[in-house]
Order: sequence, then structure tokens, then C-alpha cells
Amino acid sequence: MKPDAILLRLGELTLKGRNRHRFEQQVLSQIQRVLKPYAAITYKRAFGRMYIDLNDEPFEPIAAKLKNVFGIHSFSPVYTCTCELQSIQEKAVAIMLACIDRPTRFKVDAKRADKEFPYDSLQLRYHVGGYVLQHVDLLSVDLHHPERILTVEVREDRTYLFVETIEGLRGFPAGSNGKAVVMLSGGIDSPVAAWMSLRQGLRIEAIHFHSYPYTSKQAQDKVISLGNQLTEYVRELNLHMIDFTEIQLYLKQNGQENLLVTLMRRAMMRIAERIVRETNSGAIVTGESLGQVASQTLPGITASSENIQVPILRPVMMMDKQEIIDLARRIGTFDISIQPYEDCCTLFVPKSPATNPNLKVLRAIERQLIDLDRLIEKAVQTKEVLTLPRRVEENFSELL
Ligand code: ATP
Ligand code: MG
Repeated sequence: MKPDAILLRLGELTLKGRNRHRFEQQVLSQIQRVLKPYAAITYKRAFGRMYIDLNDEPFEPIAAKLKNVFGIHSFSPVYTCTCELQSIQEKAVAIMLACIDRPTRFKVDAKRADKEFPYDSLQLRYHVGGYVLQHVDLLSVDLHHPERILTVEVREDRTYLFVETIEGLRGFPAGSNGKAVVMLSGGIDSPVAAWMSLRQGLRIEAIHFHSYPYTSKQAQDKVISLGNQLTEYVRELNLHMIDFTEIQLYLKQNGQENLLVTLMRRAMMRIAERIVRETNSGAIVTGESLGQVASQTLPGITASSENIQVPILRPVMMMDKQEIIDLARRIGTFDISIQPYEDCCTLFVPKSPATNPNLKVLRAIERQLIDLDRLIEKAVQTKEVLTLPRRVEENFSELL
């Protein structure tokens, strides 16, 4: 049986007062964007809810799109019929027959928006519930702990019925909570951190540090693919490609081997902070997770972000690796992340990076790195900004 409409529940838990209208407008415009190919559908508000009338457009692919829209709490496929009692009863039976395959306790909820309708909601509940019970063998009524609730809403023109509820992504609509710069490596964690930022309503700018030709073209394509995958959830995404080669070589020659990772992280953070200011963003986001690798100890994290004046958000910091992997699979980035291309850091990391880097030593070393400021400035100036989604085959630089 094909649904005729979809009932959308938007941000039920997160919404307060005046923000509600703006929130709903933002979610609705994102929905209209992803459903643009389905030209026949129309949008309606009724009963304080939002409905999509399918007008014969297919439910399944539309539902798949809705599952990727932030701000939708849940949605239900809706079946409609005329407002005669008998057609409501028959529709109710057809719906229950289609969704029940074992003994099930149910109840009927009924609302009547059309006060002309000859039955009040209590009578309607009774007439529909009784009829369904007679015609569907596996059902029994349970008003207090039903496993299924069949909702019937009688409107002026038609009656709407639904029983199934599909979970949405929840979260906030795109951009409703400002903008952040996400440091996107080719790993598993940072794409998840990026997605969590999007879910929380942040617009994001992604930055990636590469060390071409020490890192390959494929390593960069992998990051572009990750960015492309994130655009399943957001209209477009700027990916800032930053050439980190000179800085890395410079640090390797002049730094101290066991502090190299920390020195690199400090330089990355400084560049990220510059991009935050350039793009009018409010924070840096990383995929750091406590204890995961040698540099992600508390002293390591403190050392990498010393002197950074913008907030640094670390959404996966307290997540267990398996939880991060599960989420990466669900959002479609895992299979891309595990492709075996080297990251700029893995190439340059020493055998035993410091887990407890000494800040005084780091500052002293950096004071002697007289070219570092200039190289950081150059890296910022020479960045290339790609607007995603795009095909990975399109080279982003004449040099590659
Ligand atoms: P990931 O899985 O995200 O790569 P990781 O556990 O491998 O994380 P690190 O490689 O130590 O951890 O990196 C920590 C964080 O620093 C990353 O999550 C990312 O936000 C940032 N980062 C590291 N390398 C890069 C890079 N080449 N470009 C952009 N950001 C980077
Ligand atoms: Mg990594």
C-alpha cells in the first residue's frame, strides 16, 4: 500500500518559544532542497504539524532523503481517504493488515478537526477500533500499553491515518548555531567530528593539510571524497587545502625529533585559527579523542592548543573508538576513511612522540624557528579552496 502523505515532527525536544518558527522554516527549506527532484509534492501545515502531500511521488526514496535532514525528529507515512465512516474503517483495516504479522496490542487515537463530522473523537475511536478488531485477527485492544497506535485525523477535505513512526536525525538545521572550522584529516575521527558539528547546527568550513609530493594525490582525493560524503547532509562545503610541506620540512630540520608531532599540531592550530578569523567562524573543531594516540594525552592536547584564542571543540573527545566507528559507518564515511592512503603526519612522525611535551621547551624551540611565522603566513596565503560536492578526478591544482 502506497502512502499518500508524510507527517513530519520537527525538533520536538529542542524547541522553545519564538525560536520554533525560525527553526521550522530552516528545516523546511532544507527539506524542499533535498526533495526538489520530486516536483509533484506539496507542503502543508495543519494541526500544528507539517505535512508533505506526495501526489503520487514515491515514498521510499523520499523517506531516505528525509532521514538525512537535521532537525527532523521523526516522520510517519500517512494514508488518506474520504471522510465517510465506512471508508475510514476500511482504510484502517488495510493499514493494520499491512503492518501486523504477530499478535499485537493496539489502540486507536482519533482527532476531529472538522466539527461538521457526525462523530466526536470518542465515538470515532470506538467505531474505528471496533471495526478493525473485528477484521484483523492478530489484534487486541490495550489502551494503556499499546504496541501500536493507529492515529486517525479527520480534516475538512480528507481523513489522515498513520501507524508507523520513523526516527529522524534530530539535531539542529544547518547553520542555526553559527559556523566553525573543522580540521579534516583522512582518518576516521575527524569526519565524524565534522558530522556532529553539522548535526549541532554549525555551518562548517573544512581545512586539510597536505604534504604533496610527500603525500600522494590519492590521499587528497580521499579527503575530497570525505567532504563530498558530508554534503549528503549540507548543501555545500568549502574545503581549504593547505600546503603543509614546507612547514613540515622546516620543523623536521630544526625541531626536536620527539616534539615534532606537537610542533606540527601547534602550527596547524595557528593556521586553523587564521582560517576561523578569515571565514568569520567562531571555533575550531578537531577529531581528537582522549588517549587514542600518543599526542592525544591531556598534556599533548594542552600543548597543541596553547595560545589559541578561539574555542576548540572536540566532539569525539570522550567517545570510545567503537562508538566512533559505528557512527562513521552510519554517516557513510567509514569506508572512505579506511582507504590506505598516508596522512601528512604519519609520514613525518618519529618513533616515539612525547606524551608529556614540555611547554617551556616548546616555546624555546619555537623562538628559534625564525622562519615559522613567515611559512605559516605563506601556507595561509597559498591555500586553495574547493567548493564541494565535486568529482574527485577534477584536479584542484595545476601543479598536481
Ligand atoms: P583522525 O582519525 O581524525 O585522523 P586521529 O585519531 O588519526 O584522527 P591525529 O592524526 O592525531 O588523530 O589527528 C588529530 C586531529 O587533528 C584530527 O582528528 C584532525 O582534526 C586534525 N588533523 C590531523 N591531521 C590533519 C590534517 N592532515 N589535516 C587536517 N586536520 C588534521
Ligand atoms: Mg589521523
